[in-house]
Amino acid sequence: MAGQEKCSFCSGSETINHLFFDCSMASYVWSLVAIVLGSPLRPTSMDQFWVWINNCLLNEKQFHMMGLAAILWALWRARNNACFEKKLTRSLTENVFSVCSSIVYWAGLQKGDDQKQLGRWCVGAQRGDATLSSKERNGKRCLHNPSSLTQDGGI
Ligand SMILES: [Zn+2]
Repeated sequence: MAGQEKCSFCSGSETINHLFFDCSMASYVWSLVAIVLGSPLRPTSMDQFWVWINNCLLNEKQFHMMGLAAILWALWRARNNACFEKKLTRSLTENVFSVCSSIVYWAGLQKGDDQKQLGRWCVGAQRGDATLSSKERNGKRCLHNPSSLTQDGGI
């Protein structure tokens, strides 16, 4: 049986990059994460992600892989629910809550201060606000515009 070639959420072709970055489903999640981290850009590919996250959270490398895993896992689950269970995500925000629930669950594996930081970001993500993160980071917001990130990544 041939795999499905069409995206489960839109009329695009289902490629890895489409599912995890280009699809409106994915770009909504990335845009919200970018707002919480105080970035005017969102990544549009895996290569861009590593450049972007190093600019946003240079001193918090311990969160990079876990954050990426939580986002991709939420998108993959939403895709599988739509594809195999015929259950469409009720709202785009549902995926953000799914990301947060993985992060809160996995935060138990982190040290005390790191656990608290993850909790604060999740509160910010669920409210969709950037105020919390910029206050938390003493106004040092991620406003770098590395040349390898194009304006296509804008939100
Ligand atoms: Zn799509």
